[in-house]
Amino acid sequence: MLATKVGLVDTTGTVDMQTMAAVAAALNIQVTRDLPKYWPVSASVSYLTDHKTIPQGVWPVQLVKTLPPDEGGFHMTRHNQPYAKVIVTPGSDEWAVDASHETIEMLIDPNGNRLQTSNAIEIVGGKIQDGTGRFEYLVEACDPCEADPYTYMIDGIAVSDFITPHFYDPDAAPDARYSFTGAVKRPRQVLPGGYISWVDPTTNEMQQILWVDPDQPPVLRNLGSVTGGSLRLFIESKTYHKSRENREQMKPEARAKRAAYRQALAAAAEVRARHYS
Ligand SMILES: [Zn+2]
Repeated sequence: MLATKVGLVDTTGTVDMQTMAAVAAALNIQVTRDLPKYWPVSASVSYLTDHKTIPQGVWPVQLVKTLPPDEGGFHMTRHNQPYAKVIVTPGSDEWAVDASHETIEMLIDPNGNRLQTSNAIEIVGGKIQDGTGRFEYLVEACDPCEADPYTYMIDGIAVSDFITPHFYDPDAAPDARYSFTGAVKRPRQVLPGGYISWVDPTTNEMQQILWVDPDQPPVLRNLGSVTGGSLRLFIESKTYHKSRENREQMKPEARAKRAAYRQALAAAAEVRARHYS
């Protein structure tokens, strides 16, 4: 299998080297250890020190200050090569969840056009359930489970959960995994704070169930005819900022716990370095 290189790079000059290196290392573990268990992906993630230098063959994940209202994280070059942009959260590494999300989706579907047929879904009484017929779902592996409560930790860095191919199975099976952490319990389940998009077979337009506010029922959205370079570019232009409206800042206790964990690692690393002098 051809291997893909992903390069994490800061364009804002606001993220320190240790954080960049720690997040790149965590993402590298995720794409080498966790992702290949379920998806045929061969990739590595490294940290690029200079955003003005992108080596050949590397797909960059750029850290940026903001994104225009009609842009999402996924991008393509003039030659249709994928790259991603992630908004930094000043003074913290919470952006790592978005970086993980974009990296995973880019590796599973580099073109952003992959559709997978599966049972249709609908909202009945505020709940998402299987409907009649079949939809062609856009394979966006992190969207149904993208909300913060479903992240998991790799070496003190929170990364995104992702669905497995079983997500598209017709029926649930006793031992099947539907997302890496197991938070998704059955095929086509969208967790609170997540979303899912598909081609409506009756109109050939795109639709979506968006569950921005976990305290409110999910919402069905008609997104219309596709315009632009790829299905994911289209979907993200309509969803990216909306899906983040209800995001909460991380709780201070959780942030402090993670900071303490990383400090412990840093302290251990200092002690360890002395063994090699
Ligand atoms: Zn996504």
